[in-house]
Amino acid sequence: MMRFLNKKLFRYLSAFLFFNSAILPVKSSSALAAWEIKTNGVLELRTKTNTNLNAYFQKANQIYGDRFWVDFPGELKTPRTIKGNGPIKEIRLGKPNNGKTRLVIEFREKTGLTPLTWRMVGLDQNRWRIQLFSPKYSFKKIGEGVVQKSRKNIKAKKTSGYMRKRVYDKLQLPNVKQNKFLVVIDPGHGGPDPGAIGIGGLKETDVVLEVSKIVEKLLSEKGVKVKLTRKNEVDLDLSQRVSFSNNADADIFVSIHANASRGKRRDINGLETFYFRGWRGRLLAKRIQKQILRVSPGSPDRGVKQGRFYVIKNTKMPAVLVEIGFLTGRLDARRLEKTAHRKRLAYAIAKGILEYLSKAG
Ligand SMILES: [Zn+2]
Repeated sequence: MMRFLNKKLFRYLSAFLFFNSAILPVKSSSALAAWEIKTNGVLELRTKTNTNLNAYFQKANQIYGDRFWVDFPGELKTPRTIKGNGPIKEIRLGKPNNGKTRLVIEFREKTGLTPLTWRMVGLDQNRWRIQLFSPKYSFKKIGEGVVQKSRKNIKAKKTSGYMRKRVYDKLQLPNVKQNKFLVVIDPGHGGPDPGAIGIGGLKETDVVLEVSKIVEKLLSEKGVKVKLTRKNEVDLDLSQRVSFSNNADADIFVSIHANASRGKRRDINGLETFYFRGWRGRLLAKRIQKQILRVSPGSPDRGVKQGRFYVIKNTKMPAVLVEIGFLTGRLDARRLEKTAHRKRLAYAIAKGILEYLSKAG
């Protein structure tokens, strides 16, 4: 479906585009899915289907250069600024008010823009394009996400290929004796207790539950019996987790958590694994820590440490508590919100566990 918008831009602060009628509820996530400014000066956008966009242009003033911006329904998670090049000074993604997302493109001085000729074109139900400046400028493309569907598929395939190579080869899981071991995996928190809340409202309970379920699957495929202390969002206190594991007579206990820093400092990232006592606990912690670091390049190694956490102190078997990153850290949070990274962490934890079982189990 091709749709063209013929209305021209006014010189000052004029809405020139009102499309489709569906307006998302205030609390929904941003309708902006991806954007890219191409070398030929075309801005392309991908949005949720049936999004109502408003676009504006404002001439330079004492503070800002010429600015073009588009408002989208739905709230942006992480406001950010991206450095421009060529005729573009910078790109800002912000939330002008609750429930909104704004993409601002600020131009350098004397770029000879002709906003009166600009037209936003709807390419299909969720793609848009507008020519902002002439291809004569030398400009390196800038964008976030994948604007075109077809390219998205190609990229998705590439990513899974990368995953296969990186994860399935490099982290090939060791074999252990079939049906010999029972591992209890304890996804931290749950139910009314979401655990740590990170950047963009990322919840510890969600992250650790998904990771735990993947660990369960991977270990099961290796002939290891696995029990999860919880499989959904239920309220489970610490003593229940301990008695569950002790009654099951598990060989090892692994509690999975994600961290938050005091004051939600975005510069604090890293991974750490705790044990309470014994060389077995320490060995298990070391194996897991080593593997999770391998799939988290750049994230600091906070080490293997002794910790007095209730669940590792009161379980009878070798027990560890692993912190798979900081939900409040810029680097870690960006990864932890993605299923691909959760899978990598799950592989790493499973590998650490299997290495331990094959040696000390
Ligand atoms: Zn926790």
